[in-house]
Amino acid sequence: MINPFDTIERRAFRESVARFIQTEIEPHTDEWDEAGTFPWAVHENACALGLFGFGIDEAYGGLGFDDAFMRCASAEEFGRSSSGGVAASICSRSIMVGPLSKLAAEDIKTRALPEILSGKKGGALGITEPCGGSDVANLQTRASREGDEYIINGSKTFITGGMNASYFVIAARTGAAGIGGISLFFVEADAPGFSRTAIDRKMGWWASDTATLYFDDCRVPVNNLMGEPNKGFLAIMNNFNYERLFMCAQMLGMSKRCLRESIEYAGQRQTFGKPLIKHQVIRHKIANMSSQIDAMESLINQLCWNVNEAEMPVAEICKAKFYCSTVLEYCAHEAMQIFGGAGYLRGNPVERIYRETKVMAIGGGSEEIMRDLAVRQMGL
Ligand SMILES: Cc1cc2nc3c(=O)[nH]c(=O)nc-3n(C[C@H](O)[C@H](O)[C@H](O)COP(=O)(O)OP(=O)(O)OC[C@H]3O[C@@H](n4cnc5c(N)ncnc54)[C@H](O)[C@@H]3O)c2cc1C
Repeated sequence: MINPFDTIERRAFRESVARFIQTEIEPHTDEWDEAGTFPWAVHENACALGLFGFGIDEAYGGLGFDDAFMRCASAEEFGRSSSGGVAASICSRSIMVGPLSKLAAEDIKTRALPEILSGKKGGALGITEPCGGSDVANLQTRASREGDEYIINGSKTFITGGMNASYFVIAARTGAAGIGGISLFFVEADAPGFSRTAIDRKMGWWASDTATLYFDDCRVPVNNLMGEPNKGFLAIMNNFNYERLFMCAQMLGMSKRCLRESIEYAGQRQTFGKPLIKHQVIRHKIANMSSQIDAMESLINQLCWNVNEAEMPVAEICKAKFYCSTVLEYCAHEAMQIFGGAGYLRGNPVERIYRETKVMAIGGGSEEIMRDLAVRQMGL
């Protein structure tokens, strides 16, 4: 079907990302996943494609223009690659450069953004705390002003890219309880009082570094406050909207990969004297996966169009996030079933995607929280 939103530029961008992933990431995915890490040069080579420069001025190393379709094309291609861990680690910078470019002081933007966008340095976003991630308004990490510095105390956990990142955007409480007392801070990994430990043995995303961050009287200059004090909650929520939309696109790519692998395998595998794909039950699984993927893709295209028109359809993005994670879980489950025992073995992309569906249903706002937010946006 013709995609009415396709343009020569968008197609060329998507092809360049797909080519890069196919040649520089996919051949190594299993090895890097088993190793739990991958070479830093991959960050630099991925960033050279301009993946994270959307909406950021060229003066800071950005692209000087924005396009939600291109951003989503890149996320979709990473999803399709089934290299979730590599994608998570590289793309952790994507969820922190937005607030950094909009809210940080000029000297910080001039120094840090080119390094992050070029892949020379890593960046990560720290919102979730050991006491909880869903109830952002209740976060406990505290920042108190003392002269020309803020002193941060508390902890963040599950921070993607957190072990290798040099720069962090951290949410901390500077005011009263609730949404009106939260601020954002730029924190460097060598700040006094900052330390981190790795979270290992995750269900998926093995190649990505995930950290718990500790702030023990961590001192940062007042200049590192991003935006106005106590106005951080809105910035966090705006940032979540983008993160959720791109996660939808990543889930689209993962679902498409499940479908493609299923069709290929079912075409070759013989059972009861004929190819698996000739059995009606399997054909119906393929039809169900395909129809839901079509719906997912249409929804994402619609949302990209709205975002490009400077709208932020919050309720629709929340609905899309849990719709996409339920479709992805369905597709991964059915693909595993079609593969039978072969799907149970490591090294099979479907096995990896199956393990990595859960984080998509939890991270960036869980399915329950997405449903709550969507209903609230409906005025209920
Ligand atoms: C691999 C991985 C990477 C991550 N990367 C990052 C990162 O880079 N930065 C970052 O800040 N965070 C990150 N997160 C954290 C993620 O955003 C949180 O896990 C998520 O927001 C849920 O928070 P929680 O785990 O504390 O669960 P909780 O908030 O404790 O919730 C537990 C469960 O209860 C449900 N629940 C909570 N409240 C309600 C309610 N009112 N009604 C019904 N159900 C409810 C939730 O949906 C969830 O299923 C990451 C998580 C993972 C697993």
